[in-house]
Amino acid sequence: VRSSDGGMSGERVKVAVRIRPLMKHEKGHKNNIETENMKKIYFKSADSNTRAYRFNAVLPCETTQDQVFENCNIGGLIDSAMDGYSATIFAYGQTGSGKTYTMAGDEKRLGVEEWKSHEGEGIIPRCVNYMWQQMTNRNEQFYVKASFAEIYKEQIQDLLNPSSGILHCRWNAQNGFFVEDLVVVECTTKYDLLAVLHEGIKNRKTGYHNLNPDSSRSHSILTVYLISETKNDHDIYKKYGKISFVDLAGSERLKETESKGEMLKETGNINKSLFILGKVISCLSDRKGYSNAHIPYRDSKLTMLLMDSLGGSSKALMIACISPSEVYTDETQSTLNYATRTM
Ligand code: ADP
Ligand code: MG
Repeated sequence: VRSSDGGMSGERVKVAVRIRPLMKHEKGHKNNIETENMKKIYFKSADSNTRAYRFNAVLPCETTQDQVFENCNIGGLIDSAMDGYSATIFAYGQTGSGKTYTMAGDEKRLGVEEWKSHEGEGIIPRCVNYMWQQMTNRNEQFYVKASFAEIYKEQIQDLLNPSSGILHCRWNAQNGFFVEDLVVVECTTKYDLLAVLHEGIKNRKTGYHNLNPDSSRSHSILTVYLISETKNDHDIYKKYGKISFVDLAGSERLKETESKGEMLKETGNINKSLFILGKVISCLSDRKGYSNAHIPYRDSKLTMLLMDSLGGSSKALMIACISPSEVYTDETQSTLNYATRTM
């Protein structure tokens, strides 16, 4: 049901927190997190006080990729995109906290030429499988397209065509904000879409024209457009749904600026998009009800491009990724705060 109040009531953005396991090189690190019932986190903060947090889902370190898909009801997000709505899944967290692992999967198996399903695969390939499975269950005809963009220092590049350089964000009445000249690939089989994922990841890693020497500072947005067509004797009905998979830049720089109380500067090395995203989401989840004009979508490229996927009748899920090690107490605190503000 589309909400008539602009979606101001209820939760606009669901928030899950995923705790990654300790890595081999972290052997012996003390753990400062406990979880309860997949809903609560007890976190020992820097002042040694234990704080409790509650989220829509808490995914402890033993959670499998399959359980992430199930417990966050990601199938439900795909269903609504297939019904003509917009959906977004974000991965938020410091570098090394498991964002890419969660979204795409085990990196040792990413970017390889041939795709085989495996336990370590992340949300995106699982969604691809789910989409094609659902298509066979439905009566509509589906058309699938995909694009893969990257935002680095407020500049947009095409992960499927890096040689095109910096692209512009434009607006028109029909599409809202869009990236001019961004490659959009038609995907007839699920392998076409998986190839888009792999190509983008490969290009993100290898730095190509080297606008972006450090991918941890960029956001990547894989957008899947789902067009469904129903025919009867007289008419054709079309629905345009889409789902955006956003692997956000490492949040560590955001914390630095927070702690120094610095103002955001466009030229600074801090991540404006992440900051604005937090503002936009907290406006949306604030029950006071902001009009669209008061939500600062236009203040960053990321929120411009996601404008139609965050407001209105769309659905979003943020997965905040954290490490269980005491070494990262400050970062983890900052991520839990951001995640809490988001709900
Ligand atoms: P980020 O994208 O946030 O920088 P990564 O996803 O690259 O972090 O994760 C950092 C490392 O931790 C990678 O080697 C990844 O395979 C591993 N890792 C992250 N989350 C998990 C997990 N839930 N289970 C096993 N390994 C993980
Ligand atoms: Mg990553």
